[in-house]
Amino acid sequence: MRTAVYPGSFDPLTFGHLDIIKRALRIFDNVVVAVGENIEKECLFSVAERIAIIKEATKGMKNVSVDHFSGLLLDFVKKKKSNVIVRGLRAVSDFEFEFQRALMNRKVDSSVEAVFIMTRGAYCYLNSSIVKEMARYGGSVKDLVPAFVEKKLREKFRQ
Ligand code: ADP
Repeated sequence: MRTAVYPGSFDPLTFGHLDIIKRALRIFDNVVVAVGENIEKECLFSVAERIAIIKEATKGMKNVSVDHFSGLLLDFVKKKKSNVIVRGLRAVSDFEFEFQRALMNRKVDSSVEAVFIMTRGAYCYLNSSIVKEMARYGGSVKDLVPAFVEKKLREKFRQ
């Protein structure tokens, strides 16, 4: 059984994330979507809310589980009995960061491999920050996130 860990902030999950999950499932037997508890990043949704959103969006998918981690990703990957980290690549700007991180991780533990899945053309501009900005000012995010996520965004910004 090949298990891949797909880590990120997912604040909130978008169609771009869902696309990566679906495509990772074509390569791996199981995908663990891992919500990172990054203390440096201020998030709109709590970890529990982000997990609930991912669970809801993937509930029809077999072989997907959702979890969270704090601390070293490599430790979490080991805990899940995996040796693969999946990340998505959008623009060249993602590359620099991912390249550095992948090399750093390999230095720490060369048994863990990073696998990059190229974005779908339609989602190359899509990230959670843009979604939040659009929703904050009342723009439509219908084509960017599942309908129930759009509703949750509206509720957040109404508060
Ligand atoms: P992080 O803060 O760790 O980058 P994100 O939630 O922004 O967390 O992203 C998680 C992963 O999903 C990253 O590998 C990112 O490149 C990927 N990703 C996000 N949006 C897209 C998209 N539209 N197309 C492809 N990959 C994406």
